[in-house]
Amino acid sequence: MTAMPRTLALATPFDHVEFRGHEQIVFCRDEASGLSAIIAIHNTNLGPAVGGCRMWPYETHEAALTDALRLSRGMTYKNALAGLENGGGKAVIIGNPKTDKSPELFKAFGRHVQRLAGGYMTGEDVGITPEDMEQVATETPYALGILSNGLGDPSPYTAEGVFLGIKAAVRHRLGSDSLSGLSASVQGLGHVGYSVARHLHAAGVTLLVSDINPESTRRAREEFGATIIQPDEAHRADVDLFVPCALGGGLNKTTIPEIRAAIVAGAANNQLAHDEDGIRLMQRDILYAPDYAINAAGVISIVLARPDEPDTKVRAKMAGIDATLTEIFSRSQAEGQPTNVVADRLAEERFNRSL
Ligand code: NAD
Repeated sequence: MTAMPRTLALATPFDHVEFRGHEQIVFCRDEASGLSAIIAIHNTNLGPAVGGCRMWPYETHEAALTDALRLSRGMTYKNALAGLENGGGKAVIIGNPKTDKSPELFKAFGRHVQRLAGGYMTGEDVGITPEDMEQVATETPYALGILSNGLGDPSPYTAEGVFLGIKAAVRHRLGSDSLSGLSASVQGLGHVGYSVARHLHAAGVTLLVSDINPESTRRAREEFGATIIQPDEAHRADVDLFVPCALGGGLNKTTIPEIRAAIVAGAANNQLAHDEDGIRLMQRDILYAPDYAINAAGVISIVLARPDEPDTKVRAKMAGIDATLTEIFSRSQAEGQPTNVVADRLAEERFNRSL
């Protein structure tokens, strides 16, 4: 396991700047396997906490705690907006996913999850594979999104939810139920982005696509007749819709003044570099679909899908993405507040109302 300073530069985690309303922080150790992990449960007003487990070679324990606190709080908001009866939690395993993994380490993590008796349900996140989660699941039933108790890869659902969200945005901004004849710049053609591009193509949208992987863009050109553009051109393309499906932070003070699309709606997490970028988008009259509202179908499928059942519950909950975004857009317009601020407030209303 990676060596690191053993002390926190803090009096207690209660003093941490990201400690904001959290219910429980569990520091997990297992000497035999070398496991060091932190499980953060932010809020369980709506139900048991759900959120993935990340494995990362954090340089300090404080950096790991910061991530666990920040990400678990984000999951409370995301799960509330998704309409799930779940609160928010997150786990981080401190270690290098390339060199520090072992079945024993994930089993030890599973035993720590099990000790929380269902108060926290875990799943895959950065650095964790389905195979790792299968090891966790040998010790606890509270490991979600794996083939033994779910459907595995959530990205087809995420893509379908994003497509529903794009339709809600077009209805609100352009007053049309049809996407036919519109144009879109899809940035990132990975698991989600390629599938979103397929939905858009089927709906009659002209596609401009970009990815750092030329194989993906070539495929999209052949399959959808898409025009290939450079990744750094994606946000300034002269299109109706900008659909970020690659990395976060793409909406910032440099890119926002260059956006020509009327709508920004895509799957990427953490699209706004800073909260105030929501104001910048509003000032430019660009309708922004808050990322954690539009990409919620992934977590919905992880929580609700069962391998031996039809996905009826997942689809019913996914339909709520349209209603949630429509409410966010309408309130944003009526109150003159950026959509990201309205989304946070709506989530807070939902998880506080349940008290
Ligand atoms: P992925 O890794 O399969 O795809 C990302 C794609 O973006 C890759 O094809 C990669 O080559 C490309 N890319 C990377 N840097 C780029 C750049 N600078 N410009 C253009 N393309 C670039 O990931 P994914 O599962 O498709 O997820 C995409 C985004 O959606 C991520 O931000 C992820 O956090 C978010 N998200 C995914 C899910 C899901 O179900 N997979 C759910 C919610 C949110």
